[in-house]
Amino acid sequence: MAQTIWIHRLADTKKREADGMDFVCEHLFQAMTETGKLTKLDGANAVPNAESKDGSTYRALFCEMCDKNYNRSGHVRLAKEPVLA
Ligand SMILES: [Zn+2]
Repeated sequence: MAQTIWIHRLADTKKREADGMDFVCEHLFQAMTETGKLTKLDGANAVPNAESKDGSTYRALFCEMCDKNYNRSGHVRLAKEPVLA
């Protein structure tokens, strides 16, 4: 069964920390919420064309786990939480 990867939109000021990507995965988002800044975990990978089920693509930075999951499934979904400033 395909595993959903939740992504969160970044504020413009954070995009440079995310290799220029517009979104980060749930796990990078949570780490960012705790520390107040984006820490690129080992194995984090920029995916400029992360694709959702409806075919939309997003520029996203994935942690290692999401990067592996994405290669298997490609089911990216946009989280409803507010933009992280
Ligand atoms: Zn992740």
